[in-house]
Amino acid sequence: MSRSAHPAGPRHADVLSEGHYAAPPADLNSLDPKVWAQTVTRDADGVVTVGGVPVTRLAEEFGTPAYVLDEADFRARARAWRTAFGQDADVFYAGKAFLSRAVVRWLAEEGLNLDVCSGTELATALSAGMPADRIAFHGNNKSAAEIERAVGAGVGRIVLDSFQEIVRVAHIAQSLGKRQRVQIRVTVGVEAHTHEFIATAHEDQKFGIPLAGGQAAEAVRRALKLDGLELIGIHSHIGSQIFDMSGFEVAAHRVVGLLREIRDEHGVELPEIDLGGGLGIAYTSDDDPREPHEIAKALSEIVTRECEAARLRTPRISVEPGRAIVGPTAFTLYEVGTIKPLEGLRTYVSVDGGMSDNIRTALYDAEYSVALVSRTSDAEPLLVRVVGKHCESGDIVVKDAFLPADLAPGDLIAVPATGAYCRSMASNYNHALRPPVLAVRDGAARVVVRRETEDDLLRLDVG
Ligand SMILES: *Cc1c(COP(=O)(O)O)cnc(C)c1O
Repeated sequence: MSRSAHPAGPRHADVLSEGHYAAPPADLNSLDPKVWAQTVTRDADGVVTVGGVPVTRLAEEFGTPAYVLDEADFRARARAWRTAFGQDADVFYAGKAFLSRAVVRWLAEEGLNLDVCSGTELATALSAGMPADRIAFHGNNKSAAEIERAVGAGVGRIVLDSFQEIVRVAHIAQSLGKRQRVQIRVTVGVEAHTHEFIATAHEDQKFGIPLAGGQAAEAVRRALKLDGLELIGIHSHIGSQIFDMSGFEVAAHRVVGLLREIRDEHGVELPEIDLGGGLGIAYTSDDDPREPHEIAKALSEIVTRECEAARLRTPRISVEPGRAIVGPTAFTLYEVGTIKPLEGLRTYVSVDGGMSDNIRTALYDAEYSVALVSRTSDAEPLLVRVVGKHCESGDIVVKDAFLPADLAPGDLIAVPATGAYCRSMASNYNHALRPPVLAVRDGAARVVVRRETEDDLLRLDVG
């Protein structure tokens, strides 16, 4: 399963994942639409194209490695979420998955809202024209300066994450002569994911205020008393790469339980409930994500049912998909460098990037797919490990994958579903220059985030 870690830990990379790639795919040249962006296809010469642009042209013009983002697909996914949730709910794109000014503009145009979790993400959003009232500000340790900036800009909501922050935000809002709309983030004791590095809703963690022991109820009591705050709802985020809706069911049950307690104690029915993000995508053909309309229907039914049972008016729902919108819309384009067959073990295929542009394999034991994209091949499938060029043996991009046995240096290969948490978590390890993000649409490619240059790096190093 792509969602569970090897029991020996994420860096235990010396065994093949059992059975997962037991058999090669029937056709190595085929591109599973589940894992590739919508407009990806092969042209008559066998070259993969996206938005009508061949990857060979992208490599020539912009170099490799590069993140290649299918703008039409991004907009279509954003719109699908917006449409699925309709007028009685809000969709906040989680900016931490991937944020750039182009993306912010697309989101604004498609009617989505935006989550940010740092002052700089906020600045990016505002500079690209996202209206402040459509921005939610998250984080477990927002600085006073960040809070001031957010309140001053007039963000739609701040999601309060601790008792100290309740007081901090109230104080800052009051000193600015404002009343800030806020939600309280609670932890509901649900672990919707088996991978402990990315599960976020069990109680032993840094985010949120536990429902347990009446702590969240106490937070609400305090927030309701403060003039600088307008408490609009309760927030819960239960994990990442979730396929099974049952975690949301338990979370909603517990959050609605708190709403009922609040009504009984204070005579107030909070108007909003935020169920967070974490909806899974297909990284390999084995993953079966749900469509936004199925998710919207399931969540709305769950909340409505729970509220009817508690005799509460159904609150306005919001959700915060990041990965589910941007993840599938991009792939990383690499050039094959060294190919090293190790007799009786495996073949290592080294590419011109690695853990600096995709840390998820090393960090979470994440699984990815890969394909030869600069040509087709009729050669036999060869089980390979795709690795980067960094000085670290855990520098793995795709742990086990089949590529054609005639793969050669200079071939272009691409790893799909890298739109989320790859560029946004990229590093300069080994002084790697972080790759550009190319947006491709209707036969044209443009740079939306340019490649870093040696000058960029040297400018930071003041000697
Ligand atoms: C990370 C995060 C999200 C987005 O998670 P995805 O897995 O990208 O959907 C949404 N809300 C909160 C509070 C988060 O921390």
